[in-house]
Amino acid sequence: MRITCVGGGPAGLYFAVLAKLADPARSVTVLERNPPGVTYGWGVVFWDDLLDDLFAYDPVSARRIWEAACQWDEYEVRATGKDVTYLAGYGFSLGRHRLLAILSERAEELGVDVRYSEPVSHPVRHRHAPTPPTLPHSDISDLPGGRARNAELADADLIVACDGAGSQLRNADAAHFGTEISTGANKYIWLGTPHVFRTFTFGFEKTHAGWIWYHAYPFDDETSTFIVECTPAVWSALELDRLDAAAGCARLESIFAAHLDGQPLINRSSGWLNFRRVTNQRWDNGNVVLMGDAAHTTHFAIGSGTKLAMQDAMELADSLTTGGPLAPALERYEHRRRAALAPLQRAARASSEWFERMPEYADLPSIRFSYALSDRRGEYPLWRYLLHVSTQRSVPRAMLRSALNARRRNRARRRPAAEPRIPQLTGG
Ligand SMILES: Cc1cc2nc3c(=O)[nH]c(=O)nc-3n(C[C@H](O)[C@H](O)[C@H](O)COP(=O)(O)OP(=O)(O)OC[C@H]3O[C@@H](n4cnc5c(N)ncnc54)[C@H](O)[C@@H]3O)c2cc1C
Repeated sequence: MRITCVGGGPAGLYFAVLAKLADPARSVTVLERNPPGVTYGWGVVFWDDLLDDLFAYDPVSARRIWEAACQWDEYEVRATGKDVTYLAGYGFSLGRHRLLAILSERAEELGVDVRYSEPVSHPVRHRHAPTPPTLPHSDISDLPGGRARNAELADADLIVACDGAGSQLRNADAAHFGTEISTGANKYIWLGTPHVFRTFTFGFEKTHAGWIWYHAYPFDDETSTFIVECTPAVWSALELDRLDAAAGCARLESIFAAHLDGQPLINRSSGWLNFRRVTNQRWDNGNVVLMGDAAHTTHFAIGSGTKLAMQDAMELADSLTTGGPLAPALERYEHRRRAALAPLQRAARASSEWFERMPEYADLPSIRFSYALSDRRGEYPLWRYLLHVSTQRSVPRAMLRSALNARRRNRARRRPAAEPRIPQLTGG
């Protein structure tokens, strides 16, 4: 079987790893438009559930990801005029660059052909597609390096469209996929900073124009992610809509000066955005299948898009190992992933809506404000509130942290270290 993944993000690279692990005889190619080491964004967070899955599917890359990740063991909430409060919970974070480097290295070790600086444009030939492609192949071949890409796509038994939220492969057939894209109300920008936050921190500042806040966490010894968010009205009133990148960072550095310990903010992103919620009524078209953000996006307020993209890769790899024709395998993949995604997408929506209504909660006293933030999905029973109140004091908080750390260590001990779970196949 010949597989071509369009897009070398977490979904494409991890699926390439699993596809090759399942059957080393497969020809697996990843076409990534950027040069090696070039990507967007900063660090991403994840939790034990993803690590458990990664260890079950490929302990080798899982161990590398785990060893490279930063661990944090509570959330800190800071807001103008309020006491600092804490939320129970722990997690991990890792730079996107580092994650992609680990995955591409692992893919290449296994014999995946990872090709950088290979942008793919439509059309893709949909083998067995209900509607024929509308443009000739020569449109691809005419691009630099196009002949090689053309062959990779034309010869593929399976083309995985994992080219992100703005997927060109999907957009070119948006009517077939039933693509819908809606945008969140708030503005956000994904920045980095050399200020290493102690732990995952939410910081809210009240300015003359209204509230503006950040989600920040360390992801290595030298850097933290710093995502700034606010309503469009505050964004314009602070002139963030007009300032260039350097002046915009300077304005944010002065707003958040009390949080940054004199360190700068670094902007290497495409600027201020509105979150794009992508959904598709169907995920396959002949031998083309959507995966990761190309199929569905999940608001960053719950930090799960990378996890879901990698879990898509696991499910698609599983669906293909059962053998048989492609169409039912792709249907099974879509069906199972939709079911698994639904609760998290509801949570993500509730969470992003909480941030859109954030000013409504701003007058709450410190402990109730941070509790409202933690219960933004609206799912917690009463005991969580009582626990939250009691763990604002240092001794109960330290006890809870150490109990959670013990749980983290126990869970880590149960993870497999040796063989991957996917059986080795002999055929394609
Ligand atoms: C502000 C912010 C914070 C986030 N924080 C987190 C977090 O903490 N935790 C988390 O789990 N998730 C987080 N996410 C979500 C996460 O970044 C995405 O869900 C994840 O990257 C999706 O992976 P993917 O492989 O599907 O797509 P992508 O990572 O977008 O990768 C797609 C790849 O395809 C390539 N490509 C695009 N077009 C073409 C083309 N035509 N030809 C060839 N290659 C192409 C791109 O260059 C890219 O490398 C965050 C997102 C945002 C916006």
